[in-house]
Amino acid sequence: MIPDSGLQEFRTSLRGQLLLPDDSGYDEARKIHNAMIDRHPALIARCAGVADAIAAVKFARQHGVLVSVRGAGHNVAGSSVCDGGLVIDLSRMKGVRVDPAARTARVEPGVTWAEFAHELQSFGLAATGGYVGTTGVAGLTLGGGLGWMVRKHGLALDNLLSADVVTAEGRLLTASSTQHEDLFWGLRGAGGNFGIVTSFDFKVHPAGTVLAGLVLHPLSKAREALRFWREFESHAPEEVANGPVLFNAPPELPVPDVLRKEPIVGIGGVYVGPLETGKRVLRPLRDFGPPAADIFQPMPYSAAQTMADFLWPAGSYNYWKSGYLKGLSDELFDTILAWYAKAPSPRTVALLEHNGDGAMSRVSEDATAFGYRNWPYNFLVTSIWTHASESEANVRWTREFFEALRPFVADAVYVNYLGEEGEERVRSAYGAKYDRLVALKNKYDPTNFFRMNQNIKPSRAKLGAIA
Ligand SMILES: Cc1cc2nc3c(=O)[nH]c(=O)nc-3n(C[C@H](O)[C@H](O)[C@H](O)COP(=O)(O)OP(=O)(O)OC[C@H]3O[C@@H](n4cnc5c(N)ncnc54)[C@H](O)[C@@H]3O)c2cc1C
Repeated sequence: MIPDSGLQEFRTSLRGQLLLPDDSGYDEARKIHNAMIDRHPALIARCAGVADAIAAVKFARQHGVLVSVRGAGHNVAGSSVCDGGLVIDLSRMKGVRVDPAARTARVEPGVTWAEFAHELQSFGLAATGGYVGTTGVAGLTLGGGLGWMVRKHGLALDNLLSADVVTAEGRLLTASSTQHEDLFWGLRGAGGNFGIVTSFDFKVHPAGTVLAGLVLHPLSKAREALRFWREFESHAPEEVANGPVLFNAPPELPVPDVLRKEPIVGIGGVYVGPLETGKRVLRPLRDFGPPAADIFQPMPYSAAQTMADFLWPAGSYNYWKSGYLKGLSDELFDTILAWYAKAPSPRTVALLEHNGDGAMSRVSEDATAFGYRNWPYNFLVTSIWTHASESEANVRWTREFFEALRPFVADAVYVNYLGEEGEERVRSAYGAKYDRLVALKNKYDPTNFFRMNQNIKPSRAKLGAIA
């Protein structure tokens, strides 16, 4: 129970807004991308800047309140919202400052990849981020960052130069390769565990106009298409980010009739480099089949950043499973295709990502807290549906599908694709680095103040210290 005077003092200490359950806007503010998450925080502090984040940490410590930290609110596990505690909501902190000459950019934690790409495009620049535009720069970078330029320029976190961090004690630190280096190591892969990042400084890259899109085959031709892609991909240059995606055409997508009668395998991606070279490189992929549709075209990088957004509409129910793949066998493809054909929801998307064998694999495993750099292929099924009544069937199917894939999946998972899956799976996201992360947590957050995340538990935790 927090006295009214304490709440009033907190409210007046903020430049941003403090929302309580009876306030208008509260219900909207507690919603996130995944409709499965329906939590009721006691307080939502919509921070306007660093001072608000510091005030929120100090208030929560003083009153023993559970906190969650929200960037753009996209994490499927829903860790950005808590029940009964304080949401430190950074989603309105949307500043971006680009330095075109230095090819760097400073970004606040409420910015999405679409917004960041928009700001960079004016200068012909782009950042290596995610595959869609709606996700947050903050959460995505702090866990890794797999996207269209990962093979050419590495993970989003490989391009992080420094970060301003509000610690569990309410202090502001700058972490970089020369300041608080241990914190900088941990932030890059297990970021939410160590503090609130209020500013990210990134290296960015020339991109301009890129060749981007998809070739589309009906599911009945998917076996051949996947086998062809496997061969194509094994020689594809790092300029190509590419992967098959299984989906059903939503009504708004203009596709030929043959692609409305059965699910689609889209093989798509982005070529970041000279257009003529890109056309030559992608030609075999675009000729194979031939596909029922070829929607590759030149576009600004900022358009490529948002071209896949239609597959993951906001406000739907989501349940995901993911793991790095041991290889790309025919049996793997057949299992995926057989299970996808039985998906209970037409909005469900399954995909294979080729992230490795490029820039991210050249960074040493020890350089950051990011889990694994040497599993080049990743599997992800994102079950998506629209009514709560369909939840049980979709969750069950997703679990059974993933069980069927166990023989093909390594004991290693990308932390940002995890749901609420328990401590063992968090360990699977960090492997041998887990113990070093615990030691870092002991140093920077010994009471586990930041626990609404894929949590690294401190070994010296006074877990009762914060209710
Ligand atoms: C539709 C969709 C597509 C996706 N596509 C990709 C993709 O292409 N590539 C990829 O790598 N990932 C992808 N992801 C996963 C994505 O990386 C994570 O969901 C990520 O957490 C999203 O960032 P956010 O800021 O929106 O997170 P939020 O949900 O706001 O936060 C998630 C967690 O991150 C931490 N956090 C957020 N902001 C801060 C901060 N400023 N300081 C400290 N901790 C913070 C907190 O622990 C928080 O609980 C996708 C997710 C979705 C839903």
